[in-house]
Amino acid sequence: MPISAQDLRRELVALDKQHVWHPYTEMSAWLETAEPLVIARAEGSRLYDLDGRHYLDANASWWTSLLGHGHPRLVQALTQQAREMAHVALAGIVHEPAARLASELVAVAPDGLNRVFFSDDGSTAIEVAVKLAVQYFAQQGQPQRRRFLSLVGAFHGETLGPTALGGVDVFRRPFNQIVMQVDFLPSPADGVEAALEALEQALTARGREYAALVVEPLVQGSAGMRMYPSEFLSRARELTARHGVLLVVDEVFTGYGRTGPMWASSRAPDCRPDILCVGKGFSGGMLPMAATLVTDQLFFGFCGDRSRAFYYGHTFCGNPLGAAVAREVLAVYRDEAILQQGIRKAEPVRLAFESLLGRPGIRTARALGMVAAVELEEPSGYLGSAGWRVYAEALRRGVYLRPLGNVVYICPALTIDDSDLGELLNVVVDVVTEVGASLASP
Ligand SMILES: *Cc1c(COP(=O)(O)O)cnc(C)c1O
Repeated sequence: MPISAQDLRRELVALDKQHVWHPYTEMSAWLETAEPLVIARAEGSRLYDLDGRHYLDANASWWTSLLGHGHPRLVQALTQQAREMAHVALAGIVHEPAARLASELVAVAPDGLNRVFFSDDGSTAIEVAVKLAVQYFAQQGQPQRRRFLSLVGAFHGETLGPTALGGVDVFRRPFNQIVMQVDFLPSPADGVEAALEALEQALTARGREYAALVVEPLVQGSAGMRMYPSEFLSRARELTARHGVLLVVDEVFTGYGRTGPMWASSRAPDCRPDILCVGKGFSGGMLPMAATLVTDQLFFGFCGDRSRAFYYGHTFCGNPLGAAVAREVLAVYRDEAILQQGIRKAEPVRLAFESLLGRPGIRTARALGMVAAVELEEPSGYLGSAGWRVYAEALRRGVYLRPLGNVVYICPALTIDDSDLGELLNVVVDVVTEVGASLASP
């Protein structure tokens, strides 16, 4: 006899609670959660639970599935590649998916980024950038360049290099004592001039000790979709270049049209990064895959003799499955004019979030491209519960909307249907308005 959805649900939740440790989750509260979400299937912009209820996926499954779930062309590319070759080492072996992907990626990358180092996820893409910068300078006779500059509110991933660069206090605090030297500049989201002034001061004081400035271009995602003007990037590029410091742009979240153009950093036309990191939407949310793009100048700094090589790599770097899917992602962007779709849909997104400005209990709202956020008046900030009240109510109305503390945000698939987007925006505006009103008059 087939097992009922209800029994299956009960069984899976029991197994989960016995053994699974969830990311970013206080587990005793989780164990007490009576009815956790159990998702069985995802298609387009919708998640389906075991009982057949469905939810609009407002954050494209942790910011990855920019083409929606289960895009038939990505599924096809993955299954075809799986039949031919799932994996082979990239050390010293050429394979078609990696070779063609590197070339196709360079073709759409900002000018000057001609070399591609593959890795597994956003965190490793940043690790590559960090290690490469330090070794590069050591081999250029500047071994003292091993400090990094980052921004308050930055998020660059979870392995130790990115943790060191992380400017979100709750994520970094337990590891403060064991991570590398990083100096934090004020976030340009709190004022471009103050951030630039701090950068200039840091560079004047220790310009010869810094290897790189690492930034999330225009949107500090995990800090709560905090946004800043492109002017910061242009001027930061100019200042770092003057002091021989590399500029690393972390496009793991912002890349692939999330803010409009392919790369958020290209909104600052004169900002030519030395290193660009890509992940998340890079493989359409289908499997982990990332890349670090660098200039020829950096690349040739590792040539000459064996002692200069970059002895670094991950078992699955450039893996054929990920590379085949990432190639197909780029092809879909071309064939379905994905960037144009995103730019068109950004307008209703902006209008909806703008309509929240000034309502009770709402501190501020902002939007850039297909990213938009609203900050609730919540005295306890990130650890407060207002965001989770919005989450619960939106879920009841068929929208999956995981908050970042008191920030409620959306970054849906760029391919979301107009009608689904309309529904998503209506629910967000209604629920945020309700919860905001209750905060204003408790
Ligand atoms: C998510 C994210 C990362 C880390 O990527 P993972 O795939 O989770 O390792 C790095 N940088 C930015 C800007 C991100 O949003």
